[in-house]
Amino acid sequence: FDNLFDEARIVARSLADAAAGALDPTIRLGVTGLSRAGKTVFLTALVQALVHGGRLPAFRAYAQGRIAGARLSPQPDDAVPRFDVEAHMKALTGPDRRWPEGTRRISELRVVVDFEARGFLSGSRSRRRLTLDIVDYPGEWLLDLALLGQDFREWSGRTLASSEGPTRAPLAADWRAFLASLDPSAPQDEDAARTAAALFTAYLRAGRDDRVALSTLPPGRFLMPGELEGSPALTFAPLALPAEGEAPAGSLWAMMERRYEAYRTHVVKPFFRDHFSRLDRQVVLVDALAALNAGPEAVADLENALTDVLAAFRHGRNSWLSSLFRPRVDRLLFAATKADHLHHTSHDRLEAILKRLVSRAIKKAEFGGAAVDVVALAAVRATREASARQGREELPVIVGVPEKGERSNGQAFDGEEEIAVFPGDLPDDPEVALRSGGYRGRAASGEGGDLRFIKFRPPKLVAAERPPQLPHIRLDRTLEFLIGDALA
Ligand code: GDP
Repeated sequence: FDNLFDEARIVARSLADAAAGALDPTIRLGVTGLSRAGKTVFLTALVQALVHGGRLPAFRAYAQGRIAGARLSPQPDDAVPRFDVEAHMKALTGPDRRWPEGTRRISELRVVVDFEARGFLSGSRSRRRLTLDIVDYPGEWLLDLALLGQDFREWSGRTLASSEGPTRAPLAADWRAFLASLDPSAPQDEDAARTAAALFTAYLRAGRDDRVALSTLPPGRFLMPGELEGSPALTFAPLALPAEGEAPAGSLWAMMERRYEAYRTHVVKPFFRDHFSRLDRQVVLVDALAALNAGPEAVADLENALTDVLAAFRHGRNSWLSSLFRPRVDRLLFAATKADHLHHTSHDRLEAILKRLVSRAIKKAEFGGAAVDVVALAAVRATREASARQGREELPVIVGVPEKGERSNGQAFDGEEEIAVFPGDLPDDPEVALRSGGYRGRAASGEGGDLRFIKFRPPKLVAAERPPQLPHIRLDRTLEFLIGDALA
């Protein structure tokens, strides 16, 4: 009955969506990626470019002068928070140039674009309107889809096994030590459950540290609780199988199992039913540089995450994911963010690396259906390029202002001074990059030092431009792939 009820709800909603679409075509675009992948910055820059324009030669409708205007409009879903684009823009372009607060929950924004479509007769044009509903949500929630196919016993087994890998074991040590002291058949115990959940969460969190950069760490709400922050729905953790193979009613195992089931039913399923299943297009932002920096294990884990993402969008009925929860996505874009950390000679290489990862994931997920593309971009370009002399050589460098408090080689940056960095080359052959992981940047002053984790401040804008235009890398190509066809 549960499914029947879901089905009725979804059919009614699709009918309503279709009725609205007959008058005004609507695209529902999902923006996702793990925390710090760059969702907030990307969506802010994308909306700014749509509404106020900019240097966008590859975004054809705009370059051809066919966009008559674009504006924000009240969103259709009253129960979903609004994406606060004004506050984010203020942070980026205000006098102290800060990166905005990152995505912590689902939010939504509607942009209405009036444009001239090319008619059937050559030279004829007709006025049309595209309604773009953009939904921003944590990628951690998307990876929870895997949990729908695993019961508590399977999930516990897998989570325990994966925590034994060489990178994960040291991070999981405290949690595993506490787990070893628990008897799953003993009577249920709230204190034990809370301590286990807290230590388990700390382990998942440690996996997201820059130096480790793992991608697959479900349950997603443990890292990105959204409105469930501090809720008892998140007070569970995997357990070792009871010695007798079964645990009695009223045991710690039974309690954890019940909470895991509640998480699947009341948290994971509703997200897929109410939000994910309605998407028409999706962009998945990936901090591929962070994974490459952290090494081969992080890269392998990223590939697993991409496989899971593709599986979520796979068409067809033959899987445990009810096709009800599967969106009819016809375009899927994977974007490597923060490409401004590289010299432009490496942008194509970053793209090639992500392409290789995605195509391997496509094979594993037996993905078929939507058009998939890959891009390396910087939604907001924080660096510029220059060249610096080292001995007799002229070397390409990137120049930017490190954030206040960033350090390298014993030097602390004050948040005002520009530095030049040799960004380091990505290997020409994507396979080499994937196997070895990593590139090495160094300070152009020549002392070396590890600059891989330097965060630059947002760029100073040209004061004369009103409204301010954010510099970017390949945001126009991204727009063209995501909505260009709808504006043709
Ligand atoms: P979210 O957690 O996915 O919403 O990620 P954010 O959009 O908040 O981005 C996380 C951080 O990545 C920001 O605070 C910036 O430091 C950095 N970042 C994001 N996009 C860019 C970009 O285009 N260029 C540079 N240099 N840094 C970026």
